[in-house]
Amino acid sequence: MRLQGKKAFITAAGQGIGRAIAEAYIAEGAIVTATDLNGDLLTGIGAAHAFALDVTDKAALQSAVTAAAPDILVNCAGFVHAGSIAEATDPEFDFAMNLNVRSQFHSMQAALPGMVERGTGAIVNIASVASSIIAAPNRFIYGMSKAAIIGMTKSVALDYVARGIRCNCICPGTIESPSLQDRLRATGDYDAARAAFVARQPMGRIGQPPEIAALALYLGSDESSFTTGQAHVIDGGWATG
Ligand code: NAD
Repeated sequence: MRLQGKKAFITAAGQGIGRAIAEAYIAEGAIVTATDLNGDLLTGIGAAHAFALDVTDKAALQSAVTAAAPDILVNCAGFVHAGSIAEATDPEFDFAMNLNVRSQFHSMQAALPGMVERGTGAIVNIASVASSIIAAPNRFIYGMSKAAIIGMTKSVALDYVARGIRCNCICPGTIESPSLQDRLRATGDYDAARAAFVARQPMGRIGQPPEIAALALYLGSDESSFTTGQAHVIDGGWATG
């Protein structure tokens, strides 16, 4: 059991990547606090604690993280805004910053004092390969917000490296999830959109949430004890060229 007895706090654990990470952590012996905006999605997850939590509610998020006192914090909540700079609006920009970026700032800020006190901690932020790694078509706001996560991750990693705390982020490529299905349907031609997504994958397929969970397990566990401040790309070769 690679996470035996470790306390983990996970946002957006109801479906997709967050759900797969929660299940992998539970299977490896972690005491998981699983949260999601939609509490109904957490039914049957098997976590030690599971409750509805909107990560854009700073007070609720910070008090939940402080109470959980996690050894491992996984910030997974995020939203994909579709469109180029031409279609971007200020409210959409603010929404993405609040949900994708500010929530991770707030949860890390709440988790760090306890980690410092205990002299140990691992933070895993979910960014995206669509960020400062590569540009993806029509991901202006999204890519901006995910690039900010890489910057926050490196800053926290450097400032806390001497206090036993590691902070890494994961940059997934295109991964099968309920919201990916929504995005494909929203194009109006599901089959063509899916074929286009697959065509840009050197491996010829879209990734699966457990493949991301395996990396999150590594980064949350002591196996990655010499790794901090990195943006870990896991994208089926998309960013290779
Ligand atoms: P998803 O988009 O299907 O599900 C997202 C989950 O987040 C849902 O359970 C939803 O209820 C929850 N959520 C939404 N708003 C929330 C809020 N305010 N507070 C708390 N929870 C909230 O899952 P996914 O596609 O696996 O995406 C998870 C993360 O992975 C996101 O940060 C996303 O940007 C990132 N990501 C996904 C892909 C992909 O292709 N699926 C690629 C790169 C990065």
